[in-house]
Amino acid sequence: MRAPIIFKPFGLKHSQLFGSGVKLFRYLTTTTVPQDYDLVVIGGGSGGLACAKEAAGYGAKVAVLDFVTPSPHGTVWGLGGTCVNVGCIPKKLMHQAALLGKDLKDASAFGWNVKAKEVQLNWDQLVMAVTNHVGSLNWGHRITLRDKQVTYLNASGTLLDRHTILARDKKDTETVVRAQTVVLATGGRPRYPSVPGAELAITSDDLFRLRRPPGRTLCVGGSYVSLECAGFLTGLGFDTTVLLRSIPLRGFDQQMAGLVVSGMEKLGTRVLRGSEPLRLERADGGGVRVVLTPGGGHQTPPEVYDTVLLAVGRDPDTARLGLDRVGVEIHQKTGKIITRDDRTSVDNIYAIGDTVQNAPELTPVAIQAGRLLASRLFGGAQLHMDYSGVPTTVFTPFEYSCVGLSEEQARSQLDEIEVYHAFYRPLEYAVPNRDCSSCYIKAVCERAAPQKVLGLHFIGPNAGEVMQGFSVAMRSGLTVESLRQSVGIHPTCAEEVVKLNITKRSGLDPTVTGC
Ligand code: FAD
Ligand code: NDP
Repeated sequence: MRAPIIFKPFGLKHSQLFGSGVKLFRYLTTTTVPQDYDLVVIGGGSGGLACAKEAAGYGAKVAVLDFVTPSPHGTVWGLGGTCVNVGCIPKKLMHQAALLGKDLKDASAFGWNVKAKEVQLNWDQLVMAVTNHVGSLNWGHRITLRDKQVTYLNASGTLLDRHTILARDKKDTETVVRAQTVVLATGGRPRYPSVPGAELAITSDDLFRLRRPPGRTLCVGGSYVSLECAGFLTGLGFDTTVLLRSIPLRGFDQQMAGLVVSGMEKLGTRVLRGSEPLRLERADGGGVRVVLTPGGGHQTPPEVYDTVLLAVGRDPDTARLGLDRVGVEIHQKTGKIITRDDRTSVDNIYAIGDTVQNAPELTPVAIQAGRLLASRLFGGAQLHMDYSGVPTTVFTPFEYSCVGLSEEQARSQLDEIEVYHAFYRPLEYAVPNRDCSSCYIKAVCERAAPQKVLGLHFIGPNAGEVMQGFSVAMRSGLTVESLRQSVGIHPTCAEEVVKLNITKRSGLDPTVTGC
C-alpha cells in the first residue's frame, strides 16, 4: 500500500475555478497540491468498474466517471458499459430467446403438445424483459459502488492535465476532479462506414431496445456482432440476411468459421457474399433500399429491408478524453491507446479494456486487466495481465468456442502439427432429428508426444460452458495424453473432446458413431 494521501476536495465548479483566471488554473494544474482522489477511472464499463471496485477494496479513494453519448438514433442506457447494456448481456438473452423458440418447435418430438406454427415471438415483451434485466444490473453496479464508497459521477471526463479531469454532466454542469492516478476505460462504439445514407441504418447500440420488431433485416459485416445478431434474429422468426464482404470471423480458424456460417444458412439465414453497401436510401413505404457494390463480378439488385444493422467494427471512444493535450500516445491507424503493462505514455495514466491497442475486445479481458492493475497500484501485487490464451465464444445458433491457435496459425508457426477432430451428434439433437452437420471439434496439437494442445475448437450446444474448463487445462499445459487419460462425463457433448482420436492426417472419417 502506498503512503496515504491527504485529501482536500476542491468542491468547486469548473466555471467558478476558471472564472477566477489564469492564476487559479496554474494552481489547479500544479502536481504538488493534494489530490482529490487516489484514483479516477474514466469509463464505468466492464474494465473501469472492476478496477474501481478492486482499488476501493484496498482502501484507495476512488471516483468513476461514466457517461453514455446517445447513439445517432438517440438510444441511451445506464451504468455498466457496453457488455451490460448493449453487448454480451442483451445479446445472450436474445440468443437464449431464439434457442428457446427452436426448442419449443422441437418439443413435440419429445411428446409435448406444442404446435410449431403457433410458436411466435412478441418482440415488445422480449425487449421489455431484456431491458428490465439490464436495468437491474445498472442498479446493482450503482449499489456496489456506493457500498464500496466509490464516488460515481454520471459525467463525461476530459483530461485537462495529467492529474486533472473535467467532468461534464448532461446538464453541462462542470466539476473538476484531481487524481494521483488516472485509468482510461472508455471502451468503444460501433463504426459507421462513410457510405451515403449510413444514418438510415442502426447498430447494436440500438437493436436491443428497438421499439418495433426489426422485420426483414440486413446485417452488414461478417464477424462476431453481425453473425450473432443475424443468428438470433433468424431464430426469433425474422427474415434475416448477412452481408459478408470477405471471409467470416476473420482471425478465427476458417474451417470452424465456415461451419458456423453454413449452420446458420441451414437454419434460414441468407448470406450474400462478396459485396458491401454502396449506398442506403429511404424506400417508399419506410424501408431502407440497399445498393451493393458488385460482388463476384455480378451486381445484386438493390433490395429493401425494414432494418439495416451495421456491424462493421468498433472504434475506441477516446475523442473526448483530451489525450493530445496530455500527450497520451495513440495508434495512428486505429486510434486506440498504446500501453505497456497497461501504462500509457504518460506515467500516471493507465488504460484498460477495448480502448487499448492489441487487447482482445472481450469483457473478461477488460475485467481481469482492471482488477490486476488495481492490485498492482494499491495492493502491492506484481501480476500483469496475460493477453494470450484468451478463450472466447461466438454465440451464433451453433455456438463456437475456442482457445489458443487456429489450425492456420499453428501451421504457419510449426513445421509439424497434429489435428484431432470429430463430427458428433449431441444427444439432444437425436430425437427431434436436428441437423448436426456443424457440430465439430478440433484439437490442434504438437506432433511429438505428449502432443501439447495448442488450440481447441468446439462447435455445439453450450460451447462456452464446455470450453471454460478446457481453457483452464490449456493454461496448465493440456496434452493429448492427458485428454486420453481423462474420463468422460456421459452423455455430454464435452466428453467428445476427451474422446478425440481421429487425426486429420489419417484421412479416416471423423464422424462419431455410437456412445
Ligand atoms: P465499455 O464496457 O464499453 O465501457 C466504457 C464506458 O465508458 C461506457 O459506459 C462509455 O459510455 C463510457 N465512456 C466513454 N467515454 C467516456 C468519457 N469520456 N467519460 C466518461 N465515460 C465515458 N464480450 C464478451 O466477452 N462476451 C460477449 O458475449 C460479448 N458480446 C458482445 C456483444 C456486442 C453486441 C458487443 C458490441 C460487444 C460484446 N462484447 C462481448 C464485448 C464487450 O462488451 C466489451 O469487450 C467490453 O464491454 C469492454 O469493456 P470496457 O470496460 O473496455 O468498455
Ligand atoms: P470486427 O471488427 O470483429 O469485424 C468487423 C466485420 O465487418 C468484419 O467481418 C469486416 O470484414 C466487416 N466489414 C468492415 N467494413 C465493412 C463494410 N464496409 N461492408 C461490409 N462488411 C464490412 O467487429 P464486430 O463489430 O463484429 O466486433 C467487435 C468486437 O467486439 C469483436 O472483435 C469482439 O472482440 C467483440 N465482441 C465479442 C463478442 C463475443 O465475445 N461473443 C460478441 C460481439 C462482439 P473484413 O473481415 O473483410 O474486414
